[in-house]
Formats: sequence, C-alpha cells, structure tokens
Amino acid sequence: MTNHKLSIWYHPIYTNGIHPDARFPRDRYVKLVDKLNTPEYSDKFIIKQPTEASRNELVMAHDPYYVDNFLNQNLTQKEIKRIGLTPWTPQIIPRTLLLMGGAIAALDHVMEHGGIAGNMAGGTHHAHYDFGSGYCIFNDLAVCSLLALSKYNFTKVAVIDFDVHQGDGTATILQNVDEVLTISVHCQQNFPFRKSKSDYDLELPANAGDEEILAMVATALDITKQFGPELILFQAGVDGLSTDTLGKLNISRQGMSKRNEMVFDLAVEQMIPTVVFMGGGYSNPISHTIDAFGDLFLSASMANNQILSKADLETFDSTID
Ligand SMILES: [Zn+2]
Repeated sequence: MTNHKLSIWYHPIYTNGIHPDARFPRDRYVKLVDKLNTPEYSDKFIIKQPTEASRNELVMAHDPYYVDNFLNQNLTQKEIKRIGLTPWTPQIIPRTLLLMGGAIAALDHVMEHGGIAGNMAGGTHHAHYDFGSGYCIFNDLAVCSLLALSKYNFTKVAVIDFDVHQGDGTATILQNVDEVLTISVHCQQNFPFRKSKSDYDLELPANAGDEEILAMVATALDITKQFGPELILFQAGVDGLSTDTLGKLNISRQGMSKRNEMVFDLAVEQMIPTVVFMGGGYSNPISHTIDAFGDLFLSASMANNQILSKADLETFDSTID
C-alpha cells in the first residue's frame, strides 16, 4: 500500500517574522520543524513553502480598510497593542501573508487530493472583521471557510476549535453564515473574557482534566457528525495542557493526543477532507508544546494515510467491477 505523506506548510518567517524580544514563544515553529525533520517523523511528512495570501483573499473575511491599514503599516499603537506580538517589526507583514497563504494552500490541497493537510502556524481565531487581538491579525479559519463556500461551492463547512481560548473572532465573522458550523470547546475562565457566540460553545471550568474535556470533545464531534460537513477546519491548539502557562486546564499529553485522534477518526470514518491549524501552545518549558504538536501532526499523518488508502481501494474496486 502506498505511503501517503502528510503535506504541511511552513516558512522560517513563521518564527523570524516575530521580534526576538516579543513575549510570544516564537521559537515553537522552528523547534517543531526541527522535530519533524528527525528520522522518527521525517518519512511521514512533506514540508512545503507557502506563497503570500492576496488582498482579495483577506477581504473575504475582513474590512478592506483594516486590511489596507495593516498592509501599509498604518495600524494605531492601540490596535497593535491589542494584537500583541510586540515589539512590532515590519517583518510581521510578510509573515502574516505567508501564514495566511499556508492555510489557503492546505485548503486547496485537500480540495484537490482529499485527506488531511496542515499549516504549521495559524489558527488565528481571535482576529475579528475589523481588528486583531490575542496574537491574531487575520482569521485564517474564517478566510478558509468563506473560500470553501465561494471557490469550491461547499454548503457545509465545520470549524472545530479545541484551543483552550474561545474562537471569538471566528464566531463573530461567521455568525450569519449558515453554511459554516462553528463549535468552540474552551475554558470558561480564560481569555477572551467577553465571549462571542459560536453556533455551539462548550465551556469547561478551570482545572478540568482529561475525562471532562474528552466528554466535551465527544459531544462536539456528535454535533459535527449530525451537521454532515463536507470539510472540517480543525483549530488544534494545545494550550489546554497542564504545563501551559496560559491555559488554566489540566490535560495530559495522552489526553491531548486522544482528543486529536477523535477528530481524525471522524474524518476517516466519513472521508471528510480536513485542514489542521496549529493554534495556541505556551508551555513552560516549551518542549511540552512541541511534543504535543509533534503528536498532533503524527496522528494527522496516520489518518491522512488511512483516508487516502481507503480512497485508493474504492477506486480500485470500481475499476475491477
Ligand atoms: Zn489559545
């Protein structure tokens, strides 16, 4: 049986486009790619370089005035402060465009080939229609959802957001888009303190552990299954780990892996094309975050191989029949 490798998009600017003095742990991207290039992982992935997203793609989900102000370096200090990632560097502009381009390339890939693909950054769910916040400038989940509707004529897209923080920007941008189901499983006592309204918000109390979160994940996936999506966009933040400095939840590495496998099992069972967005992860030491993202992409790779092998078999069956 063919070994279908998982395509994932990455660019060194994912790390280098953030100022070295920023509080954000920018090294997590380069550390993850180093991990995925070790022998244990390397034969399971194809790492590809993104191209920049276009202005037209960004304005699908964002106010053109906000987009242009960002591109022309005209955001106010207040707007920049709300985003974070300070001290600001001009490199943040190509970084943002390449990061958005990576998500779009992963979407295009699963549209063409089926299976699963991922971007090794993003999941920028706190970006709203006309402002950024919480390390997020433009919303890759919203842009990809709207592209799936307009470019690929989909009518059922599910955004499954399991980051510890609520997907507030995604919820507001997509709130009147019936074709997109937004589900957020998050910690109630965490940022953003003023929550938006997703189609489904499943809230966990602070300190919830594996059992509670996995029960909530099962509920979220039941809802997803009922909806019958043609595409899943999975925000796979690992900031719910017990070692995370921002998370307030108590999930083990195994629990996190189980969570991801539950999503991928649904994708395999129903043969649903799926795009993986990294999301948050701020463990101290950061190695716990990197390990959890390594596990995530490994599970995604195995599930992708299962989906595409199943598709091969079906093609084979129909040709011999
Ligand atoms: Zn988060």
